[in-house]
Amino acid sequence: MIIHPIKAFSDNYIWAIHQKKDAGLIVVDPGDAKPVIAYINANGLRLDAILITHYHHDHIGGVNELKNKYHCPVYGSSYDNLECCDHYLSDQDRLNLWSGQLNFELLHVPGHTLGHIAYHDSQKKLLFCGDTLFRAGCGRMFEGEPEQFYNSLKTLANLPIDTQVYCTHEYTLSNLAFAQHIEPSNHDIKQLLQECKALREKDLVTLPSNLASELKCNPFLRCHIPSVSESVKQLANVNVKKEYEIFASMRRLKDNF
Ligand SMILES: [Zn+2]
Repeated sequence: MIIHPIKAFSDNYIWAIHQKKDAGLIVVDPGDAKPVIAYINANGLRLDAILITHYHHDHIGGVNELKNKYHCPVYGSSYDNLECCDHYLSDQDRLNLWSGQLNFELLHVPGHTLGHIAYHDSQKKLLFCGDTLFRAGCGRMFEGEPEQFYNSLKTLANLPIDTQVYCTHEYTLSNLAFAQHIEPSNHDIKQLLQECKALREKDLVTLPSNLASELKCNPFLRCHIPSVSESVKQLANVNVKKEYEIFASMRRLKDNF
C-alpha cells in the first residue's frame, strides 16, 4: 500500500492512500483540491473516499471541489457535523473501505478541537491523527480543557508502539527544538533532530513517525517522567502535581517558544 504525502500550503500534508497506479485513492484532510487533482491525474487514480479529522479550513478547504468533481463519499466527525460530510463517525465506530483492506477504528480525541477524530487501523498499524499528535509535539489547544487533550494524547500513546503516525503538518524541527529545551540531555531527541535536519535539508518529509519514537522523543507524551515534569515546573515557574497540569504548562511554554 502506498501512503504518499501530497504537499499543500506551506507545511500541510494531505495523505494519499492507494494500492498502485490506476487504482482507487483515499485522501485524508484535503485542505486544497488542486494538488490532489494533480496527483490523481499524474497517477491515473480514482478518488474513492475523503476522510476528515476536524473542521479547520486547512483540512477541509478542498473537500467540496473534490466531491463535486469525483462524486466520492466524505467521512467526518459526528461531533463537528460538517455539511460537506456524507457519513458521520463517532468514537469506536468502524469504517471499512475497499472491502476491508482498510479497517479503521475511530477514536474521538478532543483537545486541538472538541470534535477531533483519528482513524486507526490496527491490522495495518496506521494512525491518521490530524492535528492532535505531531512528530515530537502536539497541536495547539484551541478548544476544551488540558485534561481532555492530555487524555486524548494518552489514548494515542497507548496504541501499539509499532503504529505508524501520520499527522498533518511538517512541524518536526521546531517541535524537536522545543523537546530539546525541555530535555537537554535526552540523546534520542538529539539523534532524531540530526536525522530530521538532514531530511529537511533535502526537502524530504519527516513523516510518518511511529509511537515507539514518540514515546522516546515527544515531551507531551512524557509528562509522567519525573525529570520531564521537574524541567517543566522550573521553566514555567509553577508548582503543579498532576500529569495533565504538567501537560498544560508544557503546552503554554510551547505556545510562547
Ligand atoms: Zn487544526
